[in-house]
Amino acid sequence: MADSDYIVGIDLGTTNSEIAVYKNGEVRIIKKNDRDILPSFVGITPEGALLVGEEARNQMLLYPERTVRSIKRKMGEDLLVPLGDKQFKPQEISAFILRELAQWAANFMGSPARRAVITVPAYFSDAQRQATREAGALAGLDVLRIINEPTAASLAYGIQEVGQKTVLVYDLGGGTFDVSIIAMESEVTEVLASHGNNHLGGDDFDALIAERLAQHFEQEHDINLRHDYPVAWSRIWRAAEEAKIKLSEAPFVTVREETLVISNGIPRHLELELSRQDYEALILPLVESTLDSVTKALQDAGKTTSDINAVLLVGGATRTPLVARILEERIGMEPRQDIHPDLCVALGAGVLASRLAGHDVDRVLVDVTPYTFGVRCIGEVDGRTCDHRFAKILRRNAPLPITRTELFYTTCPYQKAVDVEIFQGEDEDIYNNIPVGKFIIEDLKPVPEPSEILCRMALDINGILTVTAIEKCTQKSKHITIENAMRPMDEGELVEARKRIAELYASDVVHAGDTESDDTEEEKEITAGEHGDAVALMKHSEALMDTMHDEDKEEAIELLEQIKDALEGDDEEALREALDELKELIFYIEGK
Ligand code: ADP
Ligand code: MG
Repeated sequence: MADSDYIVGIDLGTTNSEIAVYKNGEVRIIKKNDRDILPSFVGITPEGALLVGEEARNQMLLYPERTVRSIKRKMGEDLLVPLGDKQFKPQEISAFILRELAQWAANFMGSPARRAVITVPAYFSDAQRQATREAGALAGLDVLRIINEPTAASLAYGIQEVGQKTVLVYDLGGGTFDVSIIAMESEVTEVLASHGNNHLGGDDFDALIAERLAQHFEQEHDINLRHDYPVAWSRIWRAAEEAKIKLSEAPFVTVREETLVISNGIPRHLELELSRQDYEALILPLVESTLDSVTKALQDAGKTTSDINAVLLVGGATRTPLVARILEERIGMEPRQDIHPDLCVALGAGVLASRLAGHDVDRVLVDVTPYTFGVRCIGEVDGRTCDHRFAKILRRNAPLPITRTELFYTTCPYQKAVDVEIFQGEDEDIYNNIPVGKFIIEDLKPVPEPSEILCRMALDINGILTVTAIEKCTQKSKHITIENAMRPMDEGELVEARKRIAELYASDVVHAGDTESDDTEEEKEITAGEHGDAVALMKHSEALMDTMHDEDKEEAIELLEQIKDALEGDDEEALREALDELKELIFYIEGK
């Protein structure tokens, strides 16, 4: 079949719309100027020009009466929407959006887009579906199929390929939330139940942040922005959404808006630092409220959580880490989000479109991180505090490219340097993972309290991992780049890497470091673990020395000697005994 007979898949969303097509053997999202998302906004400028997407969204700030958003909510209703000095039916407004997307496709494919698959929410009525078809026709598209959004998401994941499946699709978009239970078997899909809240989404998260910002501004400047300053208020909303998006990736964000208003001739700025913790507390009631719908949908479908084979996260707002966390607690299964949640529905429509066009497509191909990446820190391993805890930063199976930032603290007063040791693996103990690099950030500002250090990891689709440490109070930073972070190690390299860890941590205490060559790998791990425990414990007790009474100190020194002897003599039993005694002593001292 010629490329000119292509069929596009379209997610015509309340907040954002996307378009996908089959090209060069795979289904992909079509972009324009590097953007893959078209905001579902339509506007008419005072000069009469039509704006669609980002430009219309920008105009919303200045000319709200000349701009329309969330038209999807009105689909199927018999009414006219004012836009400047004209009036349009909802399907006409939607047609402007579809026409723009079709244009993206035409530019990408080199010939006009004529046929389409368009998605709608599972709860859409016949009238709403019909209006969606009409919108397609008005945009010059032959709408071959209207499919349910959760079904499209399952197609993107290729769920139907393996036997009979029950899938829970949790979709939190800009202004709507719905959860659907779907039964899939090869070509047949059935929406068993669907529940939701037509007025809950990422916009509500923005509203809570905006309110917080406005409160802060009012406290600082005694000016209430909410009513008398529409432009400033719109700016606050935009800033709130940006802050929200950053908080999905980082533990803090600083919101700064210069000259938000001028009062008494003085420019008034807004500046506020918001932590993810504060933000999560704000939105928690909203996120928890979605769980009621999950329960209802399961009930209506006659299913329990144990019947569910997969949970799929769909919709941009599910990028908020709290959402996946709460859902996982409720269902007891890690939700899948390895296909970009805001592109997933369009990609699924693209899968169906490709099949209709005669291509053999099972699912969408995505690049994900094959391993978890993180750093060494102090924390609990097996319920014991030690200095070889693995702090996960980039989690396995996240779609690429990805950036995540986590917060750490220095451990000693006046600490001037931090070792950043990077590992790959899934175990909570770094000894069981693979070291991939390390660096030191030095000349930190010496302060008596624990100082905040941000660690940012970014992995791109070429497998280049960039790790940056940032001292929060001064913004001083240092980074390293690791090429080939995604390449799997072969067995030999793995054994080598494990050996390096064993030696690295044992060498603090045991200088010989030569593990017997006929050791099995398992035994090496155990040895490494025990040596590591010893090292951690010794360091810990050394740090406590200054606070100890003379008697305790003597005992501690004696025990440290015994541990060193036991390590050197490879006397496992003596080592264990001395370690236990030292642990008891520390426990006793810390309890004092
Ligand atoms: P819809 O299906 O309703 O058209 P989307 O699935 O595109 O909408 O979701 C849009 C919502 O997702 C918006 O509220 C947007 O702010 C939010 N969003 C997008 N990216 C992120 C992110 N990284 N973190 C949190 N929310 C996000
Ligand atoms: Mg959507």
